[in-house]
Amino acid sequence: MVRVTRTVMVRSAKLPRRVFRLLIELEDMYRNMVEQLVIYAVRNSIRSFTRLKALKYREMRRLYPQLPSHYAYTACQDASTRAKSFLRLKKLGLAEREYPEVKRVSIWLDDHLWRPNGYTSVRMATHKGWVTIEFEPHKQYWKYINRGWRLASEAKIKLDRKNRQLIIYLAFVKENKVYKPKGYLPVDVNENNVTILVDGVAYLFETNTERLVLGYYYRRKRIQERYDVVYGKKSRIKRKILKKLRERKRKLDIRWKIANIIVRTAYERQYAVVLERLGKKVVSNMIARIGDKQLRHRIFQASFKGIQNAIEEKAKEYGVPVIHINPKNTSRLCPVHGTPIIYSNGFRIGRCSKGGELWHRDVVATWNLLLRALRGDGSNAPSPVGHNLLDVRPMPLASNATHEPITLPKGLWARWRSLEADLNNLKIVGMIL
Ligand SMILES: [Zn+2]
Repeated sequence: MVRVTRTVMVRSAKLPRRVFRLLIELEDMYRNMVEQLVIYAVRNSIRSFTRLKALKYREMRRLYPQLPSHYAYTACQDASTRAKSFLRLKKLGLAEREYPEVKRVSIWLDDHLWRPNGYTSVRMATHKGWVTIEFEPHKQYWKYINRGWRLASEAKIKLDRKNRQLIIYLAFVKENKVYKPKGYLPVDVNENNVTILVDGVAYLFETNTERLVLGYYYRRKRIQERYDVVYGKKSRIKRKILKKLRERKRKLDIRWKIANIIVRTAYERQYAVVLERLGKKVVSNMIARIGDKQLRHRIFQASFKGIQNAIEEKAKEYGVPVIHINPKNTSRLCPVHGTPIIYSNGFRIGRCSKGGELWHRDVVATWNLLLRALRGDGSNAPSPVGHNLLDVRPMPLASNATHEPITLPKGLWARWRSLEADLNNLKIVGMIL
């Protein structure tokens, strides 16, 4: 069983003045708590919630006796999460300041601090007793309710001071069964493409993630520099333009699209998805040529980690099993002969030192992930069902012939929903195979 969680945002109607003022007070107290806790946690290198709570909960209770006690509890959760990710960035040399800024807060609520009140309102505990807040349900909200998702006991809230509204983040939960796989679908993720192997055929999806990340980075930098000179560092116009840029970037985000295609393809065949286990070393090797530390981190997050996370999330939704395989040397050994493949500098095609056949690097990687998964090298690798190890081999090719993937440009696949259906359409119009 896996637990799938989706967050849904709803807005309250315009709040009555009294409630609005009450929530401002509450948010200010909560923010103060989180600020103090984060500074303390970072100063003492505390990453764990239990530890932070053990050390600071009483003090927070003493400082804010009027608040329901569980706010001190959730503030510790909130702060330890912030401290943890800040300390991680700091370790990587990516933190810009000494302490993290607590700029925006959303208040974390646990089951003692709120409860649903029918379908269109919630009750919340505050320093002046319980208040009821009506919200405006939308189509997406009803979709979760009607499809049998249940509300999780945690929620978050944020005040929209300009519109005098409360934004409520509700979490919906569903338990999903994971099926026993009938085969494997290996996925090799790179900074500019994602390659999958489906029943012996490799498909390479071009993503151009690196170019997108770099483009965004430099555009952002240019805007910042230009507007800082003309309007000063905190100008409104600059913020507005940066916001637009961020929104565009989100639209271009192809992670979910690729994850969707891969997971549906695995689901249709009842296969498990095979991913590389990403260690820290692997990462720095993969994009070592990028000198800027921050940029390297961003590219890694957007391409490798980001795409893997999206695939894992989607897989939970469909009950598709995911296994992780040690990627060491996956593109070095010939899947047919087991001998080293020689790549000349900078080329993605190499030659097998025994058979003399040529291999696309990413095709090699997917084959080797598959063979390792079949041998059970993965963490918690389920035993293969109905797969005979001996049938699963790439077709040997003559010397000088190439094992190449079918390359799918982004413009082609970006609107696909599943490999099967859309590939068939392509075959009909005679574009490939
Ligand atoms: Zn070979």
